[in-house]
Amino acid sequence: MNSNGFTTTALHIDRLAKPEHGAMHKAIHTSIAYGYEKAEDLAAVFQGRQKGFAYSRQANPTVQALENRVTAFEDGIGSVCFATGMAALGAIFFAFLKRDDHIVSSQFLFGNTASMLATLEQMGVGVTFVDSTDAANVKAALTPKTRLVLVETIANPVTQVSDLDGIGALCKERGLICVVDNTVTSPYLFRPKAVGATFSVNSLSKYFGGHGAALGGSVTDCGVFDWSKDPGIFEGYKATTPVEQWGLIQLRRKGLRDFGGTLSPEAAHTLALGTETLALRMERSCDNADRLADFLSRQKAVVEVNHPGLESHPQHGIANRLFKRPGALMSFALDDRHDALAFMSNLRLVVNSTNLGDTRTLGIAVAPTIFFELGRERRTAMGIREGLIRLSVGIEDIDDLIGDFSQALAKLG
Ligand SMILES: *Cc1c(COP(=O)(O)O)cnc(C)c1O
Repeated sequence: MNSNGFTTTALHIDRLAKPEHGAMHKAIHTSIAYGYEKAEDLAAVFQGRQKGFAYSRQANPTVQALENRVTAFEDGIGSVCFATGMAALGAIFFAFLKRDDHIVSSQFLFGNTASMLATLEQMGVGVTFVDSTDAANVKAALTPKTRLVLVETIANPVTQVSDLDGIGALCKERGLICVVDNTVTSPYLFRPKAVGATFSVNSLSKYFGGHGAALGGSVTDCGVFDWSKDPGIFEGYKATTPVEQWGLIQLRRKGLRDFGGTLSPEAAHTLALGTETLALRMERSCDNADRLADFLSRQKAVVEVNHPGLESHPQHGIANRLFKRPGALMSFALDDRHDALAFMSNLRLVVNSTNLGDTRTLGIAVAPTIFFELGRERRTAMGIREGLIRLSVGIEDIDDLIGDFSQALAKLG
């Protein structure tokens, strides 16, 4: 891996790979199929004896350039990109699990991921949800059938931080596939490789692309897992591939080629462009989030503020130790006397939207939207107040953001 900093890498990685005509960016290659003069060469590409492209569902030059970029950011040994973050997570489960296998998962999980795990349970995979802020809870839930542990770095909407180094060490000791969803931190703030994760997953739709303009996902093999001990690797791959690559080949063949959640080259280009400013945007968003968390904490109508940067946050210590900054995701709750939806409607700048990781500050009242399906009882059990509002803090000028919250707070009376 090169020794350049994050942004230098982001700016020069395509160019240094010598794309056509001295271009600054890898071109958008839209061909689905690739032709060869010699039939022998096509056969060699199929068998993995020769580098090359055959059919874009499995590999494409523009998407490959993005994969190399993600790998450099994560300091991994290789990455596979997907159409969305959900396709990336789904591909891991599809490629590495079989009926009767068992997963231990954080209970503080992106809603659609929790829904996907419920589907896996219907297909005969056991799932146990635990409070992942303490590795002891993960350990207590392990069974002889456990194959994989899934956690997020900073959970949404309450911003719990998983016991990442404890869980990484536990997975290493037990030979378990450790999957860390790095979406909310991004590799600029945290590299899951540092805690011994097998795979780092990113929804590229969020901070990577950053402008809310393209969907994508990635899985990076951090290069720490001993694939020779994994019982699920397809025999056919073992003969043709060095053991370090077994995870990646299974992910690309079973997870991408067969599952088919392929990222389009147009989206790959947009996402790659977004990463040129990932570090700059993240720094600015984190600055703004720190300021807003401080501002909201001092308001009478606000009864709770969740942000790992606050000293009152239960995982402030681990967030400080592991992350470059505590992130730009936060949530807060108004006193029950106030109507969260009415408050949100009074914001002029903050957009009522479900996304996160955009350049714009986005806010959503959680109970009536993204956690509506769960019902009040489960929300309460998860520590989600009825008036909770999630914010994905963007890069606007901070005085404008604080001004917007001030005027909406003033209207509460
Ligand atoms: C958004 C998100 C996903 C899913 O990503 P998509 O690109 O929207 O499919 C997965 N995990 C987390 C933590 C997310 O925020």
